[in-house]
Amino acid sequence: MWQGPSAPDAVYLDSAATSQKPQAVIDALIHYYTKQNANVHRGVYTLAEQATEAYEGARKTVAEFINAPRPENIIFTRGTTEGLNWVAQSYGGTHLQAGDEIIITIMEHHSNLVPWQQLALRTGATLRYVDIDDSGVLDLDQFKAMLSAKTKIVAVTQVSNVLGTINPIRQIGQLTHAVGAILVVDGAQSTAHMPVDVQALDADFFAFSGHKMLGPTGIGVLYGKMSLLAEMEPIEFGGEMISKVEKYHTTWADIPWRFEGGTPNIAGAIGLAAAIKYLQGIGMAEIRAHEEALTQYALTQLKQVEGLTIYGPADAQQRGGVIAFTLQGVHPHDLATVLDTQQVAVRAGHHCAQPLMSRLGVVATARASFYLYNGEKDVDRLVAALNETKEFFQ
Ligand code: PLP
Repeated sequence: MWQGPSAPDAVYLDSAATSQKPQAVIDALIHYYTKQNANVHRGVYTLAEQATEAYEGARKTVAEFINAPRPENIIFTRGTTEGLNWVAQSYGGTHLQAGDEIIITIMEHHSNLVPWQQLALRTGATLRYVDIDDSGVLDLDQFKAMLSAKTKIVAVTQVSNVLGTINPIRQIGQLTHAVGAILVVDGAQSTAHMPVDVQALDADFFAFSGHKMLGPTGIGVLYGKMSLLAEMEPIEFGGEMISKVEKYHTTWADIPWRFEGGTPNIAGAIGLAAAIKYLQGIGMAEIRAHEEALTQYALTQLKQVEGLTIYGPADAQQRGGVIAFTLQGVHPHDLATVLDTQQVAVRAGHHCAQPLMSRLGVVATARASFYLYNGEKDVDRLVAALNETKEFFQ
């Protein structure tokens, strides 16, 4: 599908940051802007009705994609970060008090860490971290021991953006619910890459981003169980989210519209629906199988590069297509810069996971991440470029 941004030889290994976009998504955006452009929910004229139908149709497509019970469980956001912040600020702000506990893990992205840290500071609740073992797998025994009647929220990523680790969300959910707490899932690195069923996972809230799954930037999704969304106050006030405004009192629109104040990202939602249809055309199970096989191949090939340390589980069945690594004697930023001269694009840095970096005893790593458009040839190019880089620094 994707031929590279400008150089035909470029190898893009940074899909965990953002994915490339298929023509079908770009065409859907062009179609909306050229043929359907109007504001939603407001107009009585045909064009506005068409735009509303496309926008609400996108909500239905998203709901079916993650097996939400109803389209009304789906709130459009700017991305994972916004969805998680809303749950922390709105639900967390009214449900937590001093003495309560929030449990997250040491492998969380800052987007699923800082909102809880700030909520804890604001409410006097305690923030606790579940550790990992040396292979990068979550310590479930420690998690079980941490749970108590004080636990109110457990927030965990389904797939780590550094270690690649796939966490057992269903089991974590059962343990969480057994103590009466709610489970918030960061689906930023999972929804794009494997079948996700929010009901089977029994997630209370589940957030993800469109731009990591072939969709446009600036659009994301927050799924919530109806009973919990009903307990959540709107975050932003203004147009679209009201039912009736009086001088000193306002009643909210129904769920989910009460959470979507102002003109929403109409084109973004339509583009995301086109991305989902593209993914469904291939099949999420097929995409997962492709990435698992590619990750296994990459792990095997990378292990042969002398001086390379690979982080996360050794078995691709336990991980997504994200591989963080360091090369002895070379700073990850220098490594990524030299790889770039060979047209291999990998990320370097702390990957918005600084507490995890400290846990791993590093300040940064390089990271290669795969998607459906990557193949073994890309891995071979990475390995060849790493070997060249080693020689360059010797
Ligand atoms: N959570 C994880 C695990 C991520 O990898 C990312 C992005 O890299 C995010 C959250 C934040 O996503 P966004 O920047 O699209 O809000």
